Amino acid sequence: MKVAVLGAGVVGTSTAYFLAEDGHDVVVLDRQAGPGLETSFANGGQISACHAKPWAAPGIPLQAFMWTFQADAPLLFRPWRFDPALWSWGLKFLRNCTSEREHINMDRTLRVALYSRKVLKALRQKTNIQYDQQINGILHIYRTTPEFDVGRHTGEKLQKLGLSQDVLTPEDCVKVEPALAPAVKKGEITGGLMSCDDESGDARLFTDELAKLAATRGAKFKYGVSIKKLEHNGKQVTRIVTDQGDETPDAVVLSLGSYTPMLAKQLGLKVPIYPAKGYSITAEIENSEAAPTVSVTDETRFMVFTRLGNRLRVAGTAELAGWNTDLDPVRVEPLTKNVMSLFPKASSYKDINAWCGLRPATPDSVPIIGATPFENLFLNTGHGTLGWTMACGSGRVIADLISGRTPEIDVDGLGLERFGG
Ligand SMILES: Cc1cc2nc3c(=O)[nH]c(=O)nc-3n(C[C@H](O)[C@H](O)[C@H](O)COP(=O)(O)OP(=O)(O)OC[C@H]3O[C@@H](n4cnc5c(N)ncnc54)[C@H](O)[C@@H]3O)c2cc1C
Repeated sequence: MKVAVLGAGVVGTSTAYFLAEDGHDVVVLDRQAGPGLETSFANGGQISACHAKPWAAPGIPLQAFMWTFQADAPLLFRPWRFDPALWSWGLKFLRNCTSEREHINMDRTLRVALYSRKVLKALRQKTNIQYDQQINGILHIYRTTPEFDVGRHTGEKLQKLGLSQDVLTPEDCVKVEPALAPAVKKGEITGGLMSCDDESGDARLFTDELAKLAATRGAKFKYGVSIKKLEHNGKQVTRIVTDQGDETPDAVVLSLGSYTPMLAKQLGLKVPIYPAKGYSITAEIENSEAAPTVSVTDETRFMVFTRLGNRLRVAGTAELAGWNTDLDPVRVEPLTKNVMSLFPKASSYKDINAWCGLRPATPDSVPIIGATPFENLFLNTGHGTLGWTMACGSGRVIADLISGRTPEIDVDGLGLERFGG
């Protein structure tokens, strides 16, 4: 079958790889000059099933409101901005801020994330793909006792759903990650949670390498192609109109990240994805022993620290401010300040590469994976904060659906139909 995958981020590329493995005639279209050059470019690098807790939860609306006046807040949104897309997304988000919805959404996300970890492992064994990976877990650190208590409570919920985590004292944290010794000595860390089966690695490098593997299996990648329009006959998508000519595939997968809603709208589909802008900085490691080897999440400051070869990546912050990719120094500063405080000797931090990207966020933090009212159109998008974590699993699921196989996980509750659209 001829399948067009729209978007060559980590999600689209994973989908293309598994479709090519199944023997389909795959074409991938992307406006960039190569794979993984938008949101998949410089993310936090974590394969973190342990972060399956959705953003929407009881208490979050009040917390988010308190942050509205703080320019460097971890989550920034300004509801008074004229932005109907944000208001509509925000209302759906509010509906998900109950304990019951939080549990359902955590279960759905974790289902995909745990499966994805398994698929990634099998892929690594099969292909020996290299992407500065660290297969040694993720350590969450907490700076206050109340936050540590909340973290442990969430950990217990995740444990019931299949994710194991160990509770650590500050001293245990140093045993896991010796580079935290100065912070523990200063009494800055109250405790930690260790998710041993999680991993980390460079998502862009992975996407690049996986695109090559997909190409060796016959997938064609067409870059510098801007997709303008999707034509349909009411039942099927019939034509993809681009600035470089048209495609007429048998099946289409939309994996356009934060830009999915625009093209889906042409088909009358309402896809509730809103961009959650995030920032990262990357610094050269100059003193290896002072840099972390295990990926660390600072749960108090909402930041992740990941070693990628001889680079240290710090990522975090979220801003709901539309499809805007301007770099704001005010949002970069907390990342620099915190890495200099937590790992002061790892680098001189003189040359820092700052970057921002738009996480394709759904109101319930669950990706949108599955069929649509159009017989030959599939969605694999809306992975929000966990697109790298869930890419392999969701790519495998879409390939299974298109190939007529039953996916290995229950896909109930993952599709667009849950939004009634
Ligand atoms: C600061 C930050 C930190 C993060 N940290 C992590 C982390 O540690 N772990 C994790 O799992 N996730 C993390 N994420 C989230 C993760 O990066 C995203 O979920 C993921 O990259 C989304 O991948 P995607 O393929 O869906 O989208 P993208 O990578 O954005 O790919 C979409 C592609 O579609 C193309 N496109 C869009 N519109 C068109 C068009 N009209 N024509 C042609 N091409 C088009 C774009 O060029 C792009 O290449 C982080 C994100 C940010 C911003």
